[in-house]
Amino acid sequence: MAALIDSLQKLPGIGHKSATRLAYHIVGLSDNDVNLLADTIRDIKQNTRPCSICFRTIDANMEVCDICSSTERDSSMICVVKDTRDLDALERVGFYKGKYHVTGGLISPLSGVTQEDIRLKELIGRVAEEDVKEIIIAFEPTVEGDATALFISRLLTPAGVKVTKLARGLPIGTDFHSTDSLTIVKAIENRTLV
Ligand SMILES: [Zn+2]
Repeated sequence: MAALIDSLQKLPGIGHKSATRLAYHIVGLSDNDVNLLADTIRDIKQNTRPCSICFRTIDANMEVCDICSSTERDSSMICVVKDTRDLDALERVGFYKGKYHVTGGLISPLSGVTQEDIRLKELIGRVAEEDVKEIIIAFEPTVEGDATALFISRLLTPAGVKVTKLARGLPIGTDFHSTDSLTIVKAIENRTLV
């Protein structure tokens, strides 16, 4: 049990509490379901990998995603999203022309997820190396989203980076997948300082 909890805790966004809850749930599954889960994890590992710059999920045969390697995209802006699904939803709108960073989760003290569990060190590293002028935070407007946005702002504002977040046009708790393009464009255009 301790080994499974340790393994689960290595996932971004999963703290000790969540890992323990998941481990007990997995132990309670049928043999078939556990085998299916293990096989699926093994397969996905062989077919995909995170982009080595932004951590977006990409095909295993690529090293860096098409956005990170593009010279057409504005590298002075990084839009910070929770996961690849949110990134893909923003890309479908086609309005944002900067780069991205996928944190893999939000800080959530109640679930035991700290700043160490999400990819913030990597974001700080990118801000230090690339000529980043603005960080646009595109988390959902929840307690966790706001707390993580504030944490990022406190980290990066002293480094001279403008930290903004999407305007509140999005219904509380909903994410980008169920939001229409015009609402997303307005939320980007009317972004505010964190
Ligand atoms: Zn990338």
